[in-house]
Amino acid sequence: MKTFEELGVAANIRRAIEEMGYENPMPVQEEVIPYLLGETTDVIALAQTGTGKTAAFGLPILQKTNVKENVPQTLVLCPTRELCLQIAGDLADYSKYMDSLRVLPVYGGSSIESQIKALKRGVQIIVATPGRLIDLINRRTVDLANVEHVILDEADEMLNMGFMDSIDEILSKVPESRQMLLFSATMPKEVSKITKKYMNSPKEITIGRKNEGSENVKHIYYMVHARDKYLALKRIADYYPNIYGIIFCRTRRETQEIADKLIQDGYNADALHGDLSQAQRDYVMQKFRIRNLQLLVATDVAARGIDVDSLTHVINYGLPDDIESYTHRSGRTGRAGKTGISIAIVHVKEKGKIREIEKILNKKFEQGEIPSGEAICEKQLFSLVDRIEKVKVNEEEISNLLPSVYRKLDWLEKEDIIKRVVALEFNRLIDYYRDASEIETVSERSSRKDESYPRRKDRDRSNGRNAERGYSRLFINIGRTDRVNPATLMGLVNDFVPEKINIGRIDIMQNFSFFEVPEKDVQKVIKSMSRQEQNGRRISVEVAQGGNGGGGERDRSYDRKPSGRPNREFSSNKPAKKEHRKGGGRKPKFS
Ligand code: AMP
Repeated sequence: MKTFEELGVAANIRRAIEEMGYENPMPVQEEVIPYLLGETTDVIALAQTGTGKTAAFGLPILQKTNVKENVPQTLVLCPTRELCLQIAGDLADYSKYMDSLRVLPVYGGSSIESQIKALKRGVQIIVATPGRLIDLINRRTVDLANVEHVILDEADEMLNMGFMDSIDEILSKVPESRQMLLFSATMPKEVSKITKKYMNSPKEITIGRKNEGSENVKHIYYMVHARDKYLALKRIADYYPNIYGIIFCRTRRETQEIADKLIQDGYNADALHGDLSQAQRDYVMQKFRIRNLQLLVATDVAARGIDVDSLTHVINYGLPDDIESYTHRSGRTGRAGKTGISIAIVHVKEKGKIREIEKILNKKFEQGEIPSGEAICEKQLFSLVDRIEKVKVNEEEISNLLPSVYRKLDWLEKEDIIKRVVALEFNRLIDYYRDASEIETVSERSSRKDESYPRRKDRDRSNGRNAERGYSRLFINIGRTDRVNPATLMGLVNDFVPEKINIGRIDIMQNFSFFEVPEKDVQKVIKSMSRQEQNGRRISVEVAQGGNGGGGERDRSYDRKPSGRPNREFSSNKPAKKEHRKGGGRKPKFS
């Protein structure tokens, strides 16, 4: 491994980075720095965030800047305000001992006037988001005619965000002779197009293999029914008591909904998305950065501003529409030499996407089993014991209180005290998980069950619910595929059963359904309906095992949406009970 000095980095810059704790160059720096210091050809670097790419382009660019010329010589374009501020901040730090070097961050959402003033005073390096820079160009307040180096950072993200036209426009204002560097975590077609359009025989540098996710990241997917996704998320969060991670959702609305539910259920979570004001976003991000927030629920776009090296987990609450985004999401963990876990909670229809992502990553996912209540209790318990072991004891402050505490507990043996302390936490957990039904992990084989006649097991599960008091739950072998809806099902019962029958809850599934009828009418309904035909298909009705005897028994299932809406595919009446978390919920571990 070479030193920064051997790479050709000047002494005044080395002094600054040494103060920042950079001892040795990271791989991307070892590759890029000597190249940029020595050559003027264009460079494409495939590197993820967190690999040290800012210093890789920043150090040589700073060194090549002519501080005597007070005009923009380098232009760095990046997708978000947060990244813009971060790059500008890093460059300012690296150039601490370079007198008269000026870096200006140019981004939307802050006063354009002060940016114009700074431009008038003169800067050598502009770090900009495309939108605001175009604004400044249109006001003729920025002159790019002397730019010698253009860096497109996170090029794939910029294109994802629709900045193609802006980039075109900006580059048309920069001299053709400039040297161009493009950094991207992935190389989708659009990025290739840019490289072809704007770069001259670029040198390609790949850190790690192309499109490969970080080596330190383990990828796990949990395949569950769509209705169980939120419960699966909670279990996963519970299973990792020290989790510090981002939960990615697809839309702003889903992001807010999931965050709200988690908060309501006692988790230390908050939302980050574009519907929040800049001040709200800054606040949430700051809480997360300082670890006052354990779970950040975010959209892909909003999360780009977060640069934290110590995330333990990234959770994909469903896979992104654009599978390339998975690489970005998962690349947020397993950084700076640490290991990380990228989890995808998917439903059966997303299986194909998992395979596609595996190809991009060149890495296999593990299929995870949703942790059982027992396993979660055990994990949480050991985490408590660990916390007891490691807690900082403020001797002085509690010394006055301790004698009376000792006196009070004097009659207990050490083992008794431990048992009681542990029980304090354990009772809370066990209370919750004792009654929670386990979540079914859908195996690839069982995922096919909706496509054919349900196996005995499915009929027996009676869709996991008990009938209302005085009612029995019946299984019928027709469902949505047979164009059955609650109204047609009620029509069939009316048509085939000679007497009027009160029908309770109806759940229409893909290939079969459940409906509830008064216990006294069960045999009548079964007899009248069986052997009848619907669209040429022989009808079969039977008692859904396990669901008929309940009649008013307390509903112990926690597998319900907490919104109070019925969680099954359709409910004709009686909404399911609201899920709630017992025992006061989870304590924030980071505050
Ligand atoms: P980046 O990919 O530029 O966002 O950098 C990721 C993190 O690595 C940042 O926190 C940098 O400050 C840090 N970093 C960059 N280069 C080095 C280095 N040579 N030694 C130690 N840390 C570094």
